[in-house]
Amino acid sequence: MWIVNHAADRVVLVNGSLLPLLAPLLPHLPTVEHVVVTGPGDRSLLDGAAPRVHEYEELIAGRPTAYDWPELDERTAAAMCYTSGTTGDPKGVVYSHRSIYLHSMQVNMTESMGLTDKDTSLVVVPQFHVNAWGLPHATFMSGINMLMPDRFLQPAPLAEMIEREKPTHAAAVPTIWQGLLAEVTAHPRDLSSMRQVTIGGAACPPSLMEAYDRLGVRLCHAWGMTETSPLGTMAHPPHGLTAEEEWPYRVTQGRFPAGVEARLVGPGGEHLPWDGESAGELEVRGTWIAGAYYNGVDGEPLRPEDKFSADGWLKTGDVGVISPDGYLTLTDRAKDVIKSGGEWISSVELENALMAHPAVAEAAVVAVPDEKWGERPLATVVLKEGATADYETLRAFLADEGGIAKWQLPERWAIVPAVPKTSVGKFDKKVIRRQYAEGELDVTQL
Ligand code: ADP
Repeated sequence: MWIVNHAADRVVLVNGSLLPLLAPLLPHLPTVEHVVVTGPGDRSLLDGAAPRVHEYEELIAGRPTAYDWPELDERTAAAMCYTSGTTGDPKGVVYSHRSIYLHSMQVNMTESMGLTDKDTSLVVVPQFHVNAWGLPHATFMSGINMLMPDRFLQPAPLAEMIEREKPTHAAAVPTIWQGLLAEVTAHPRDLSSMRQVTIGGAACPPSLMEAYDRLGVRLCHAWGMTETSPLGTMAHPPHGLTAEEEWPYRVTQGRFPAGVEARLVGPGGEHLPWDGESAGELEVRGTWIAGAYYNGVDGEPLRPEDKFSADGWLKTGDVGVISPDGYLTLTDRAKDVIKSGGEWISSVELENALMAHPAVAEAAVVAVPDEKWGERPLATVVLKEGATADYETLRAFLADEGGIAKWQLPERWAIVPAVPKTSVGKFDKKVIRRQYAEGELDVTQL
């Protein structure tokens, strides 16, 4: 509702299965003039709705199949998406015909997803998440088959679909691959048709990559944002390395393609070297990188200072290092970093180390207020079905196996039935922080 009103949408295309969700919202969407419905679903839910309701099939019936395309300036707006709102209100990004075209070419290049007309790409990503990561356009451009799971995003139907349809490529956020792994561990399926999987949207735990390696499926880590169309980096190791030598490259977020320029900026605004050690905020610019937000953010201007530098680079809000050979390693989102006694603790590093424990299915770490240190980490852990582990053991595992420094080890712990997720399947740390503040979590302090 927030997004439709902010974008002032006039037409909504909706699948009939979603009418129970849309119908109660319509009275609160004053700009919507038309609703176009496709697929099965109870139309009577829209009775009395103010906007005009159309059947998609009726709208297109009898129309000529050829269309006299207008000559548009390539820089005019072609599509919009909103950020998924992981850290605050969603922000609107407009893509031009030009940016989509150039981005699609990059997606299909060998050093990105390397798709050809011999591939079938399983797009698990929902359409509203960065234009389904640009894949509908990229696959169309190269005549690649595209598979979409509709509402059946749960691990069991996904596993069945992969075994049956044999996609060669797939794209989804890490939580989808975590869920699928648990499913195929319990009920083995053949996933080996997928020669390559693009995983991004949130940091991929290295333990997840290892587990899929054992299933013969290679996960390739990618970083991007709604503001970057989204392709920003992909983690293909340099040529000619052994599997062991490739590993340190595969667990990075990857390298920037030619169309994306990047720099790291320190707290004082200084530009940092690509030495693999100097950590700063990542800034990017390029032909498919947004230069402003649609209608601003929370009534602020289109290019708020905390989102764009004075010279026009996008401030990503992501913190990390870049190696001399150009590989980006993100340590955290600036808003999720735990600021403890003047030092920074990476929530992602703690999560990755925890998720490598055999009893842990998922783990999310957030900053919580602490009288002495300002902030300290709270570890919330989901155990695998039937598994047990006590907090002392997990803490010792972080130090001994995860290599986490003693002062960074969490003292606050909670076992939870599930990590709350955003609409696109990312860990929703806003919700965990609120649950903690309101005393909803059963926290043990060691
Ligand atoms: P939101 O900012 O609301 O989550 P997006 O879906 O556009 O909206 O997410 C972009 C953000 O997702 C990035 O700024 C980054 O923090 C995170 N992200 C995307 N890919 C990765 C990755 N491979 N590793 C770590 N973080 C990632």
